[in-house]
Amino acid sequence: MDKKDLKRYPIKIADKSTVSQACRIEKIDYYLHARTALIAHHRILVVSLYKREKLIKEEKHPAYRIFMTNKEYITQDFCGEKPVWRTGCIENLIEIKWYHGISIVCCDDRSAEVINRFFAYLQKEPLPPVNKLMEAQKRIMDTRLKKRYKAEMKVISKKMREIKKLPKDFMEWIDETAMAHSRYIYYKYSRKKFMDGYCTHCHSEVKVGGAKHRKIGFCPNCGCKVMFLAEGRAKYILDHGQAAYFQKTDQGFVVRFFSIRKEYGRQYREPKTSVTELKRIFYEGDKALPYEWRSYKQSGKVYWYDGLDGYAFYYTACYTKNLEKILNGTPYQYCAIKQFSERYEGAKVNVPGYLWRYLSKPFIEYMVKGKLYHLVEDLTQSWYYSGVYNQNGKSLMEILGVTKEQFRFIQRNDMNSFELNTYKKMLSGKYREIPEDFRAFCEKYKHNVDMILTLMQYTTLHKAERYCNEKATQQHPFFAVMRLWLDYLQFAAELQYDIKNSFVLFPKHLIKAHDNAAEELQKLREKESRKKMKLQNERAKSLLEQYRKVYSWTDGKLSIVVPKDLFSIREEGHCLHHCVAGYTQDVADGKTIILFVRRNSNLEKPFYTMEVKNGKIMQCQGFGHCEETEEVKRFVNAYKKKVLNKLKLMDLAAS
Ligand SMILES: [Zn+2]
Ligand SMILES: [Zn+2]
Repeated sequence: MDKKDLKRYPIKIADKSTVSQACRIEKIDYYLHARTALIAHHRILVVSLYKREKLIKEEKHPAYRIFMTNKEYITQDFCGEKPVWRTGCIENLIEIKWYHGISIVCCDDRSAEVINRFFAYLQKEPLPPVNKLMEAQKRIMDTRLKKRYKAEMKVISKKMREIKKLPKDFMEWIDETAMAHSRYIYYKYSRKKFMDGYCTHCHSEVKVGGAKHRKIGFCPNCGCKVMFLAEGRAKYILDHGQAAYFQKTDQGFVVRFFSIRKEYGRQYREPKTSVTELKRIFYEGDKALPYEWRSYKQSGKVYWYDGLDGYAFYYTACYTKNLEKILNGTPYQYCAIKQFSERYEGAKVNVPGYLWRYLSKPFIEYMVKGKLYHLVEDLTQSWYYSGVYNQNGKSLMEILGVTKEQFRFIQRNDMNSFELNTYKKMLSGKYREIPEDFRAFCEKYKHNVDMILTLMQYTTLHKAERYCNEKATQQHPFFAVMRLWLDYLQFAAELQYDIKNSFVLFPKHLIKAHDNAAEELQKLREKESRKKMKLQNERAKSLLEQYRKVYSWTDGKLSIVVPKDLFSIREEGHCLHHCVAGYTQDVADGKTIILFVRRNSNLEKPFYTMEVKNGKIMQCQGFGHCEETEEVKRFVNAYKKKVLNKLKLMDLAAS
């Protein structure tokens, strides 16, 4: 269909009878006129849609005109100022929402006949003509999409031709190495010293002594780490695993990711292992192109969806036999992922994270070679924020910012990043004592590192732990005691106790000492604040004296009272539950003026409080921040006129 030809086809204006129908029947939204036509030698269905709203105003021009064959359709939209072409289907164009009850009918019998005949190929006889039209458009759209998907999938399948066969020993490697965490000895429980068992790893009958259900031990035959399972109690075991396999491609290499399930049922001698390939990432230069095995858009097929990177393969065992050869000549040649993947049997690696991080942090190579495996594990996980490394360091010592001796310590403990951070904190805090088993120390204090580090400024780790163990009870366990003790020590420091004295440092009755110190500190703070107020008050005295002469006023019922001193301002705040007590400093500094509004019948009782600044009323509040009543408002207005404004005039005259 050529738009130029379609455009030239004469527009059908609505008939008189259609207009008359529109005027009589309210619930129809659109009237449809359909005819077939030969346009540029093609047989085309021409459908005109008239809007009822327009028809009843005698506007007979169609709102839309649809041209359709059984392979394509296009719509001319007349709703705007100029006609435009639309490729959408009728439903989307006029927003037919059946729940809104928008309805379309044929304007004459002939239109219905034409549509029924034109769409006979659908074989949807019972459908009304309009629905046939929509169904036909849907089928055309589906075919179009399928064609597009087919073209897309053809491109992908060409890419997938770079994938080669898996090596012969792959499944064996999956079972042996990638699933190294899935090894069991099933034993028949008996009272004998050695029970009969079967090792799922070496597939041999073994005698086991002292086995307990779900306990870890070693196979007496192959020597591997296994879990013991009592035959009758372990009914079904399902283990998961992940595996990655590297392969050469035309422009680099591809990493293929497999999800593994291994099931042990009653026939535990024949476990079922199933392997599904779910992800492929093609590495070309420094680019990574991911594909995932998913249902492909709306094609109804499962295929390698390109550009998607949703499946998480963060803990994957790597097939390493061919790694060196494959990475040779790529930007990852020296990334040391082989050594990292072999750091223990079936070691878990975040392969995409590792390769990606390596590009910006090539020192990962040295870290692996220096066996700083835990640091590399952290560094290659996607959540890791790496702020502690000196990117420009020329050696591992420079990169970590430590001395040779400190580096050896880090290496010996195979620190992770939390441990390294803690260690460096201790180095910079000049701690004399650093626990030799640093991993155990960090594990114990992982949630309380700052607490123990603060305590270690007062005493040794050993003494701190001994003291907390001594004081720990069921009600106050180890860490609760530690928290209490630290609070006490901080109070004591503020109270200037002699913490070097071991009677002060290790109080006999911790809780009592803590409460006493807290109380004493409270008293001290109050005393200090009173002292401060007193000094402020001295300064405020003469100011308040001056104010009294100028600001005092009464209308006979209410009065403006100038506070006697700062203490009475604080008192007023406590009485009326607002925050005026916080203003005493500013009053003493002459920055603001606080005045009391009181009833003449009881001049002592707090009522309203007013703040005046530069001759203006800033606020006037009663109990609990409440607004002024009408009475107070009138009084305040009068005060403004009679006193404040006059003061302002006097100020002006004086200046
Ligand atoms: Zn074994
Ligand atoms: Zn074994």
